[in-house]
Amino acid sequence: MEVIKAALSAVLLLLIGDFISTFFYHVPEHIFGKFHTLVHHGQKHRSFIYYAVITRNPLVLIHGFLGVFPYLIFVPWLWQISPGGTILGLFLAELHVLWRHIPITEDNRSEIIERLCNFLFITTPERHWLHHKNANVAYGDIFTFYDRPAQKWLKFLRLLKRKKFAGFRVG
Ligand SMILES: [Zn+2]
Ligand SMILES: [Zn+2]
Repeated sequence: MEVIKAALSAVLLLLIGDFISTFFYHVPEHIFGKFHTLVHHGQKHRSFIYYAVITRNPLVLIHGFLGVFPYLIFVPWLWQISPGGTILGLFLAELHVLWRHIPITEDNRSEIIERLCNFLFITTPERHWLHHKNANVAYGDIFTFYDRPAQKWLKFLRLLKRKKFAGFRVG
């Protein structure tokens, strides 16, 4: 029973965290923000801490924190289900951040892992790299099923932004 509770809270943390992060941070940030595109999609520095230090702009750190915050919101609630599972979920979330950003070469590609990820709808480094190259595709940092609704959300927000600016020009 404890194992099931732990697994449940870990999976919930990843599912909810990726959902909030994708729809309330990542997609809006591509439309209205600049730091995610500048820092995370930049060639040189992917780390917000590094970027904040070299540009001497601590405001950048707040944006880095916003990327992590979605995974922390439900921690007090998930902790009630299973503290161990919550810690496991946070650990897996961090591990996935590191894994999805490994350099992609033919040697570190594994067909078994790729198939397993496809089966479980988990974002692979190859898939996440597509997002880094083209910010219109491959959403869902951890889970691939967030991609379709995220792209619709992206289009909607883009339209909203255009309309808003068009309104300003007219009015
Ligand atoms: Zn990335
Ligand atoms: Zn992005």
